[in-house]
Amino acid sequence: MTIAIERRSKTRQPAPELDVERVRRDFPALEQTVNGKPLVYLDNAASAQKPRAVVDAVARAYVEGYANVHRGVHALSQQATAAYEGAREIGRRFLGAAEAREIVFVRGSTEAINLVAQSFVRPRLNRGDEILITHMEHHSNIVPWQMLCAARGARLKVVPIDDDGALDLGAYERLLGPRTAIVSLVHVSNALGTINPVRELVALARERGIPTLIDGAQAAPHTAIDVGRLGCDFYTISGHKVFGPTGIGLLYGRAELLASMPPYQGGGEMIRSVSFDRTEYAEPPHKFEAGTPHIVGAIGLGVALEYVESLGIDAIDAYEHELLAYATERLAALPRLRLIGTAGQKAAVVSFVVDGVHAHDVGTILDHEGVAVRAGHHCAQPVMERFGVAATTRASFAFYNTRDEVDRLVAGVERVLEVFS
Ligand code: PMP
Repeated sequence: MTIAIERRSKTRQPAPELDVERVRRDFPALEQTVNGKPLVYLDNAASAQKPRAVVDAVARAYVEGYANVHRGVHALSQQATAAYEGAREIGRRFLGAAEAREIVFVRGSTEAINLVAQSFVRPRLNRGDEILITHMEHHSNIVPWQMLCAARGARLKVVPIDDDGALDLGAYERLLGPRTAIVSLVHVSNALGTINPVRELVALARERGIPTLIDGAQAAPHTAIDVGRLGCDFYTISGHKVFGPTGIGLLYGRAELLASMPPYQGGGEMIRSVSFDRTEYAEPPHKFEAGTPHIVGAIGLGVALEYVESLGIDAIDAYEHELLAYATERLAALPRLRLIGTAGQKAAVVSFVVDGVHAHDVGTILDHEGVAVRAGHHCAQPVMERFGVAATTRASFAFYNTRDEVDRLVAGVERVLEVFS
């Protein structure tokens, strides 16, 4: 079976240019030196740096117009509520959802996946049912399903990946069966950079009436997201990876599904009325936002998403694509270096191993050179096992990285080769 690979860009117009020097000035953290060298920050897949607009908005939200949301009649509370709900509307637009009530504020992708597992899948899951994930998932899209399977006597099924780190599409189709309760898969792999053809994968599940959850934690900073076009039932992003604050993220859920789901947690904010006999729940999304929410985080996330929109996701996509090609070409030319993750469709992530050198040593030497990368299993141990390695070194790029920084990375790896010659 062949599936047309999803286009990286939604438009056919040439992408607008990204002025990287101007963009870099928006990120104060990039101006620092580390170990006496100008910082090269290539750990964006773990967490991205924040533009001044986000830092300022967070400070302003605490200083001007700060109060708890939804409950107050006073001016500050109304102002905070408007800002919080305004951020939800920005999230709706960013994800391409039809309605703001389809956007739930969560702590991040991890919480979103647990919420869907517990509130949507658990009540529908019977002994012998199956949950379908892929071999390239982050632990946060494995462990919640394992816990659920153990509790309900269900089975976790895993779509294999090939030696390039691309999904085995034929196997995916074969694994979709009458017992599949949900397909939960990653849009962009954090360990490999693979971009999955999500629209086609969702369509195949939908044809069979199988609901879908897409983990977009790594997609949001790099590529356009349109849940309407993807056709998925749930989609999640983490704020801190898309240049926003930590502790905040978005879960998109199709309106009728959210309406049909029991609450995830109980408490204040998520109720319409409470008595000792009976509680009536609020409508979505508030039904899923028990307790005082991360008000300022949500506001900061809204500003971060607007910042990304202001650069243009197509411009970001085109710029990073070029950067990825350059980094891949330069690293692949080095001796004793093996790239892990060479799929045809990739976001700006380069994982590699250096023959005879532990990834932590690579990371440490790079750190001495002022180059911040991640070394480890990237919360994707099954991916490491698939490629027969304990760990990789991962350079993950954002739109503020440059070709000069790729050169600094390569020079650092050359230093590693020298030290461990
Ligand atoms: N999915 C993927 C693909 C990720 O890269 C991450 C974070 N590394 C997560 C999920 C979890 O996101 P968070 O830690 O923000 O909940």
